[in-house]
Amino acid sequence: MGKIKQLPLHEAQKIAAGEVVERPANIVKELVENAIDAQATQITIYLQDAGKALIRVVDNGIGMDIDDAQCCFLKHATSKIQHFNELETINSFGFRGEALASIAAISTISLVTKEKESNEGIKIIISENSIKENSTIASSTGTDITITDLFHNVPARKKFLKKEQTEWRHIQQLFHAFCLNYPTIHFKLFSSNNCLYNYPAIKNSLSRGAQLWDQKTAQHLIAIENQQSTVKINGFISNHHNFRYDRSAIFFFVNNRWIKNYGLNTALLKGYLNVIPQGRYPTACIQISIDPHEIDINIHPRKEEILFLHPRRIEQLLQQTVKQALEDNLSKQIKQKVEFASANTSTIEKQPTGFNPFNFDQFFSQNNMLPSNQTSVQKITTPASTIEKSIHLHAQEEIALSQQNPSQLTTTEKNYQLIGSYKKTYLLLEKEEGLVFVDQHAAQERILYELFSKRFNEVATINLIFPQIISLSKQDLTTIKPHLTIFQQNGIMVELFGADQLVIKATPVHLKNTSLDSLIQDVISWINQQQLEDKEFFKAINEKLQAQMACKAAVKAGDELTQAQKEELLFTLENTPNRFSCPHGRPTSWLLPIDEIEKKFRRRK
Ligand code: ADP
Ligand code: MG
Repeated sequence: MGKIKQLPLHEAQKIAAGEVVERPANIVKELVENAIDAQATQITIYLQDAGKALIRVVDNGIGMDIDDAQCCFLKHATSKIQHFNELETINSFGFRGEALASIAAISTISLVTKEKESNEGIKIIISENSIKENSTIASSTGTDITITDLFHNVPARKKFLKKEQTEWRHIQQLFHAFCLNYPTIHFKLFSSNNCLYNYPAIKNSLSRGAQLWDQKTAQHLIAIENQQSTVKINGFISNHHNFRYDRSAIFFFVNNRWIKNYGLNTALLKGYLNVIPQGRYPTACIQISIDPHEIDINIHPRKEEILFLHPRRIEQLLQQTVKQALEDNLSKQIKQKVEFASANTSTIEKQPTGFNPFNFDQFFSQNNMLPSNQTSVQKITTPASTIEKSIHLHAQEEIALSQQNPSQLTTTEKNYQLIGSYKKTYLLLEKEEGLVFVDQHAAQERILYELFSKRFNEVATINLIFPQIISLSKQDLTTIKPHLTIFQQNGIMVELFGADQLVIKATPVHLKNTSLDSLIQDVISWINQQQLEDKEFFKAINEKLQAQMACKAAVKAGDELTQAQKEELLFTLENTPNRFSCPHGRPTSWLLPIDEIEKKFRRRK
């Protein structure tokens, strides 16, 4: 009698399951991929004990009919391919029809699913390789899968599960990869019934990055793009100001799949050579599109690694793209500083020819314009490096300029005479063409709006001695939470404070005496009215915030202005783009033509 015996199916499945499911994160990955394949736009993950006790993934995708729901747990049951040769060009995540079968072999699965057209959902519970429940149930469209009793029948595997923190780290990393790769999907992650992450749909990965990371990192992200024959690279990376102590913020995606690849990692870091210190790592989200025939995604049971046909070509392209993007970004930043300096101060000479923006010493000696009053103002980020220092100087300079007598600013000739004001609201100007009324609030709103939008990311801020605490409803807090970075980028240093409050620790200088409660509420109600997946969302919310900031900071109708303040307002308005209307579209000034005045007094026909 031979020694060879065929293993019973359920034993074979347990062994196979070990390849697909090593830890809870692998299950989360398979379930979320299935949800994405099912075209879900909302995916919520619930965990207990970092997935060891419970993993539940709920999606609003296409769901399954009764036949599919019953056979999706069978080995090699897939709706995604029919033949092996489709493998090379597959667009969906799944194709092996293995995940659910493998998971079912080592756990208890409860599935609730409903198709849109169907009136009721289907509930199936599978445990110990048999169907324990098969019934209909009221449910919403989509699929809701719960996994419990993980590895109950594979004690060896259970023993090797790492402590909760390690398993949690794996899941968190995976979750962030999905969030970056699918910014238009609304992702939520709950642990023991607490919502830890909630990222509403947003237009692109860069904006998603801003939702994910701290505001300092978000400010320092730069987009990258390059193409060489069949290989296309795009995404974003952090610039030379920002680095981390670990690789946890580096993500690679190849044809939409999150992968780990040593060669790509090395190439990325080579691109940063001499830009960030050794042993420090950037933030990066790199999407590589490549002809599917040039990769093999089938080399790893969990498809976490891939094989490139020409790895060197791709690595070189990546390294060169990163290096070029960093260089371009640096020279752009310096050029902007130089242009700003020469455009805004009469004291700065034009840069002599031969000026090299990369020569920091030369740059600073030629911009030596630090005004004496520099105690209270700071830039958003601590001025750590030389370039930051230059931004800091400009912030100082902006204040100094606004305190100067406008008559000293001779960029344009004054062609009006201020002759008075009416109702402490309208300034009256005598001009060649007639009498001009200027609405002091609308005028300053426009001026500040242009200033805030021009200086996006570089607003001069002031620390508040008494931080403002703003209480919000849980719902409002959830609405605003993912967008706090936008406030921070505009100089409003707002953070979560306790369970239902925000704290504002610093504001742009112009807003220093203003209560920001209504500004925050305004933006919240604006967001609530928006379609979040709107492509223009980021731009629009930014404009909205800047307009509201300008409105808050501007003098009001009825505010008493000194002669010098009026003069300054008029002079600045004269030199402001779009000066004929405020950001909300109201006119800033109205001309009563001389002809009309003379006709009224019958001096002219
Ligand atoms: P694969 O994804 O490789 O096809 P799986 O075992 O992960 O294999 O899933 C088996 C099948 O079950 C899928 O092909 C799909 O038809 C169905 N399915 C699984 N999860 C979902 C879901 N969340 N929504 C709709 N259908 C699903
Ligand atoms: Mg699958």
